[in-house]
Amino acid sequence: MYEQYQAARDAAWRALLECNIRALPVDLNQVAEHYAIEIVRYSDCALTQIFDPEAVSGDGFIAKINERKIIFLNDRIKTRGRRRFTLCHELGHGVLGHPLDHIITRNSEADSSDPMEMQANVFARDLLAPACVLHALGVTTAQEIMQICNISKTSAEIRMERLRLLRDRDKFGASPLERQVREQFGDFIRANRL
Ligand SMILES: [Zn+2]
Repeated sequence: MYEQYQAARDAAWRALLECNIRALPVDLNQVAEHYAIEIVRYSDCALTQIFDPEAVSGDGFIAKINERKIIFLNDRIKTRGRRRFTLCHELGHGVLGHPLDHIITRNSEADSSDPMEMQANVFARDLLAPACVLHALGVTTAQEIMQICNISKTSAEIRMERLRLLRDRDKFGASPLERQVREQFGDFIRANRL
């Protein structure tokens, strides 16, 4: 399980680097574009004619159609932070190369015991709210994380808890990938330090 966690975390750091993300909130369209993943909103298409109603009932899902990876996003979910998390979770499935022949609909930010769901959540959190950047900014509350990263209160609280844990263990910059991320955000950190 720890190896799967690590793989998802490293994939998030690599994505930040490869997509040349240098500021928060992370521009998810830029990430999707880089990996040639298309984003379609529920209201843009007659989904129920293509998928069964069960699949389209949740927050969103990713599918492979004619060799293209497409994320379907429920734009009836009004909370922007939650939509962003869903989008990033689905990007995680796409970037991590999870099999997409079976549609798994997402409808909660809670952790799941399924390893691929766990990986997609880890990817989403580490991409939307990179701990090393938040640490360097001097973030101390979930409220700050919510605003800086444009994520929901739920995600921000989970992130703040994680940040406290990492600070207690003094666990920053142990991975070369993480140090590169910190460097790439250098200008942003200097301009936005709290
Ligand atoms: Zn999922």
